[in-house]
Amino acid sequence: MAVVKANAYGHGVVPAARALAGADAFAVARMREAVALRTAGFRQRIVLLQGVKDAEEMQEAAQDGIELVVHQREQIELLQAWRGAQRFRVWLKIDTGMGRLGFWPGDTPAALARVAECRSIVQPAGLMTHLAEAEVRNNGYTRAQLRLFAQLTAGLPGERSIANSAGLVAWPAARADWVRPGLMLYGISPFAESSAADLGLRPAMRLESRVIAVKDVSAGDRVGYGGTWTAARKSRIAVAAGGYGDCYPRNAATGTPVLVNEIPAPLVGRVSMDMLTIDVTELPPVAPGDPVVLWGRGVPVETVAAGAGTIPYELVCGVSERVQVELC
Ligand SMILES: *Cc1c(COP(=O)(O)O)cnc(C)c1O
Repeated sequence: MAVVKANAYGHGVVPAARALAGADAFAVARMREAVALRTAGFRQRIVLLQGVKDAEEMQEAAQDGIELVVHQREQIELLQAWRGAQRFRVWLKIDTGMGRLGFWPGDTPAALARVAECRSIVQPAGLMTHLAEAEVRNNGYTRAQLRLFAQLTAGLPGERSIANSAGLVAWPAARADWVRPGLMLYGISPFAESSAADLGLRPAMRLESRVIAVKDVSAGDRVGYGGTWTAARKSRIAVAAGGYGDCYPRNAATGTPVLVNEIPAPLVGRVSMDMLTIDVTELPPVAPGDPVVLWGRGVPVETVAAGAGTIPYELVCGVSERVQVELC
């Protein structure tokens, strides 16, 4: 089940789904994304991870054949009240320790019983849960979540789904019938200690810009807002188009690598809304128009995220509208 929520992690839901057309199902967070996939002609199963919030969304789900995650009582009531001809495939979500969506273990038997009796549901319902720290290898919390899920679902019919990307890679016991990878499909590692390359993944996104100016600075000159970087020697600074108005994190620290003409060079000074500054003193001559890669092959978005105190998920999801997205 290929997770393409949040505009396919910033990659564009329709182009990404085309690239992932071999998936058996797609998973999205919002109805609007599910409708976009149907409108674009995708016929695969589509799972709405948050389920429906009202009767209007039930109607849309029925019309487009969208599968629903059922994580709270109100959603069972919507299904019980449904009088349309269509029946729904649903996934009952059990909260085994994420503390977010899903029925707590104590409420699960009653929820399962209601779902099993509901005539608008295609039986048997699928069974799912979500891991809270699968990216930490071999931890007791995840082991307990897996054990609890196994106990709560023992002997029940219905397909099981547990694993996100990290669960799929690090927890073979979590693979069950359906896996739900998101991040790794875009070539990004979910682990702090393993790179995408370690996992055999290649980034799908390249955030590319151009040098718009090159400027010589003297020792003691400050660069950028707040003067957070001061040249310690005569230096050459390339100014590249691209800043936090595009998705490049303002918190990225001096020293975060970028590629100028495919050669690594350090970001220096504070990232602006539309521009950032790079120390290219050590590089062969750089001129306006030269290509700058802010993340992609050679500059993992994981590295940029670490340098900005965030996670790669946040960076790729934040790609703003003025960034032109093309899939290779
Ligand atoms: C987002 C999400 C996933 C995918 O997670 P990744 O870490 O991106 O692989 C899987 N399952 C659920 C319920 C999610 O919300």
